[in-house]
Amino acid sequence: MYQVIDGKKISQEIQEEIKKETEKLKQQGKKTPHLAAILVGNDGGSETYVANKIKACEKVGFKSTLIRLPNNITEEKLLDQVHALNNNNDVDGFIVQLPLPKHINEQKVIEAVLPSKDVDGFHPINVGRMVLNLPCYVSATPYGIIQLLEKYNIETAGKHCVVLGRSHIVGSPMSILMAKNTSVGNATVTLCHSKTKNLKQYTLQADILICAIGNPHFVTADMVKDGASVIDVGTTRLENKESKTGYKLYGDVKFDEVAPKCSHITPVPGGVGPMTIASLLKNTLLAAKKEIFK
Ligand code: NAP
Repeated sequence: MYQVIDGKKISQEIQEEIKKETEKLKQQGKKTPHLAAILVGNDGGSETYVANKIKACEKVGFKSTLIRLPNNITEEKLLDQVHALNNNNDVDGFIVQLPLPKHINEQKVIEAVLPSKDVDGFHPINVGRMVLNLPCYVSATPYGIIQLLEKYNIETAGKHCVVLGRSHIVGSPMSILMAKNTSVGNATVTLCHSKTKNLKQYTLQADILICAIGNPHFVTADMVKDGASVIDVGTTRLENKESKTGYKLYGDVKFDEVAPKCSHITPVPGGVGPMTIASLLKNTLLAAKKEIFK
C-alpha cells in the first residue's frame, strides 16, 4: 500500500514552528521578520502564488510588503525597486516573482538582488554556495522536497534518484542536493531533460523519481519501478469549467495509475506546492536572524 505525502500538513507544521520562533523573537525585543515581494503585471498564476506567500507571512506573524508594478514597467524602474529593497534595513528578504515580462532581462534582475536578501536562493552567489556546501539560501522548491523526504524517512543514501527537468530553479539544484554527502542525500543521481533518449530506461531504475518538467500526466505507470518514491513538482494550470476558480492544476505524474506502484507519492495539489511557501518562510527567518550572511 502506498503512502500519500501530505505536503499541506508538513507545511503547516513547519509554519507553526516558525510562528513560535517569531513570537520568541518579538518577546526578546528583536525585530519582526519582514518579507517583501515584487509582482510585475497581472498573470493569474503569479497573482495566486504571491497572494499565498503574503497570506502565509501574516499567519506566522511576519511583516510583509507587496509591491505591484505594471506589466509595461521598464527594466530600469524595476531595478530601482530592487535597489530600494536592498537598501531598506527593515526588509530582511525579498522575492521578485517570476516569470517577468519578455522585455525585462530576468537574469539581470536576479543578480541585482543582494545575496543576503535573496530568500528565493536564485542569485549565483547562493547557487554557488549551495554547490560548495557553504551556508546559503537553498531555493524554496528543492529545499521543500528535501524536507518532505526527511519528514517521511525516505531513505536516499545509496539509492538511485532520477530527476526529470534541469531548470535552474528546480531540476538542477535538486540533482545537486540529492548527490550531496548530507543526511538527505548521498543518492546516485541521473538528471534527464528533453534531449534524453529513451527516458523510460532511466525512470524505470529510479528508487526516487523527481518530476519537474511541466508536462501534465507525462509520467505513466509503465515508466515507474515497483516501490519507488515519486515526487511530482509539476503544476500546469489548465482551464476547467467545473472548477470554482475556472482552472485546475495538473502534475507531471498520472497519479491514479502510478500511485499503486509506489511506496510514497506526492499529490498535486497538496504535495510539493505548500512546501515551497514553508521553505520561503524558513529562509526569511534565517535572513532576519542573520544566520547565513552575518
Ligand atoms: P522549466 O524551466 O520549463 O524546465 C522544464 C525542464 O523539463 C527542462 O529542463 C526541460 O528540458 C525538461 N523537459 C521538458 N519536457 C521534457 C520531456 N518530455 N522529457 C524530459 N525532460 C523534459 O520548468 P520549471 O520551472 O523547472 O518547472 C517545472 C514544473 O514544476 C512546472 O510545471 C512548474 O509550474 C512546476 N513548479 C512547481 C513549483 C511548486 O512550488 N510546486 C515550483 C516551481 C516549478 P530542456 O532543458 O532540455 O528544455
